[in-house]
Amino acid sequence: MPKLQAPRGTYDVLPEQAAARLALENVARRVLEGAGYERIETPVFEATELFSRGVGASTDIVQKEMYTFTDAGDRSLTLRPEGTAPICRAYVEHGLHVASQPVKLWYLSQFFRHERAQAGRFRQFWQVGAETIGADDPAVDAESILLLWTLLTELGVGGIQLRLGSLGTPAARAAYREELSAYLRAHEERLSAEVITRIDLNPLRAFDADHPGTRAVMAGAPILMDALAPEDLAHFEEVRARLDVAGVGYRLDPTLVRGLDYYARTVFEFTSDLLGAQSAVGGGGRYDGLVEQLGGPPTPGCGWAAGVERILLSAEHRPEPHAVCDLYVAGTGVAPFALAAEARRAGLNVQLELAGRSRKGQRKQATRLRASHVALVDDDGAIVLEDSESEERESVAGASAAVAHILKGRHL
Ligand code: AMP
Repeated sequence: MPKLQAPRGTYDVLPEQAAARLALENVARRVLEGAGYERIETPVFEATELFSRGVGASTDIVQKEMYTFTDAGDRSLTLRPEGTAPICRAYVEHGLHVASQPVKLWYLSQFFRHERAQAGRFRQFWQVGAETIGADDPAVDAESILLLWTLLTELGVGGIQLRLGSLGTPAARAAYREELSAYLRAHEERLSAEVITRIDLNPLRAFDADHPGTRAVMAGAPILMDALAPEDLAHFEEVRARLDVAGVGYRLDPTLVRGLDYYARTVFEFTSDLLGAQSAVGGGGRYDGLVEQLGGPPTPGCGWAAGVERILLSAEHRPEPHAVCDLYVAGTGVAPFALAAEARRAGLNVQLELAGRSRKGQRKQATRLRASHVALVDDDGAIVLEDSESEERESVAGASAAVAHILKGRHL
């Protein structure tokens, strides 16, 4: 029989990696809940239409990366490839627009994209993200960026750089797209075949191309930022002024395009020099039309997502300390179990001897667990309690006395 393995592009989180993930979750919770964001969790699969309508039919994600299947009820469902469209769906479905605005939400969840697997790029991956829905104030954009910056900094992500741009309103963008398409048509003979097929569908993606001829053409291409309407330019200036006073450094990138269609106005991306080809750690932007596109009232929104695997690859390792073991209980029969149950009820961290070790083996195990106390329980329930530090041993009269003894020592 062939060896069974985790599917391509997926991985197991083994216990030795769990501590770093827990640390990440704790920092994310502290940073985001400290700023008033509340956690949200949406289903792992959604109606396929949510993503084709929300993320955009011309995007790579919708065109070739979605895990889509038909269920027994003949419905087309898709494993979520991103978090913003589902959260906007939830916002509309639960009438969150009647709550006090903006609604501030965060998540730490798994996502699925059928991409070419490589270092830092998986088919099932985790993102931590935040969405602010219901306000178009430039302070929202600046705060989103600042929070992601804070999170990455606190997690010790090295070599961070921030790129910032503005896409303007859909109308300005549409006019610009026409202009760019015309420019690309005029230089078609130097472009890659892939870019040519996308001239009408998504000409902006030509800025992302690696193909040398395309890159040369794009160096002279019209720039979206030059085509912004005055109010969008003013909004962008306000965002920048706030980042400046907060000391968040960035590089203006007039060609920054992101792989999702719903962005309007501010877009941003953080990269880390410590990552290889997949250098993006996190990014996002404003998506003022998305809620309406999904059937809700006209509602502005802004948010970001950062890749957990890439954060862990580019961060200093700062694991949380292991839970201490207050008591390791060894012995045979049911008496050890009664002691363990009572000690746990009293709030102690207890581990039971589960492998029938010899006395010598038990001693080694207690040292490995760094247990502060060891209880040796014999068949008739007699308990000898040992303090690992002082190596003092004492017979105690029953489980309650043993627990009281440990608690007393703790409070000294
Ligand atoms: P996006 O939703 O495409 O804007 O991605 C936001 C962040 O998620 C990226 O900057 C990456 O850090 C991470 N990310 C996106 N796709 C993947 C993937 N296939 N594997 C691992 N991380 C990913």
